[in-house]
Amino acid sequence: MQDELLVATVAGGSARIIVTTTTHLVEEARQRHDTYPTASAALGRTLTAGLLLASNLKGNDTLTIRIMGDGPLGSIIVSANAWSAVRGYVQNPHTHLPANAVGKLDVGGAVGKGSLYVSRDLGFGEPYTGSVELVTGEIAEDIAQYLATSEQTPAAVALGVLVDTDNSVIAAGGFLVQMMPGATEETIAILEANIKAFGPITNVIASGTNAEGILHLLTNGLPMVLHEKRPVNFTCYCSKEKLEGILLSFGKEEIRDIIVTQRKAEITCHFCGDEYVFNQAELEDLIERIERQTI
Ligand SMILES: [Zn+2]
Repeated sequence: MQDELLVATVAGGSARIIVTTTTHLVEEARQRHDTYPTASAALGRTLTAGLLLASNLKGNDTLTIRIMGDGPLGSIIVSANAWSAVRGYVQNPHTHLPANAVGKLDVGGAVGKGSLYVSRDLGFGEPYTGSVELVTGEIAEDIAQYLATSEQTPAAVALGVLVDTDNSVIAAGGFLVQMMPGATEETIAILEANIKAFGPITNVIASGTNAEGILHLLTNGLPMVLHEKRPVNFTCYCSKEKLEGILLSFGKEEIRDIIVTQRKAEITCHFCGDEYVFNQAELEDLIERIERQTI
């Protein structure tokens, strides 16, 4: 089943509902970064959150979530764009903790205490960044807190990743239900009851329910309009040209040193794990470019 993202409204636009299934893209992230189960869950939840929050971006806008906790996982960075391309990584992918008190992957323990930052880059000027202190480090609660305080939007957020005994991802996905001004008490009560009856999202996805099925469960009893339905994928837009910048920033002495000691440079993209090799001739070309710039 292809991962998907749906955007819908109910009751004449008084609530906005975004649903995404991300099983395949979280599994791809796991394979690319070799994440252990707790890290897979933390990264997968954040990738899913990135897609949900980026769903109202336009054109070339991008959104970046940074979760900077003091736990063993280190930071989590995810970026998503208006076309629902999402990419991301965790600082320490080989993080796995014993299950928490309720028998779940201990994402909150792996993330620790710290802050969540959300930056919206609209392609001009400084990106707009909002932040909140982490509530639990479980990510869904932290995103809900961010939306409530930084964007003044009361919202219900669910994010989930279910990992198999062989560490592969069985199910992943999430939803965001945002109340808009003018939502009646009755609409709010129906949505709240639907969310309460819904249960853990990974169970729903693992049982074979697709994104549309999830949307119908959440909007049961309310007039619903589906505005968008699109595929979502783990997509990085790195290239050799973009990663050249990292080498150029080393300066010519450092590059000469690399030529003498290693004869080539291997630069890995943090976001997707792809590796780019620069051979001796390419490194010499970079030195020449630095020299031309400094004359
Ligand atoms: Zn990349």
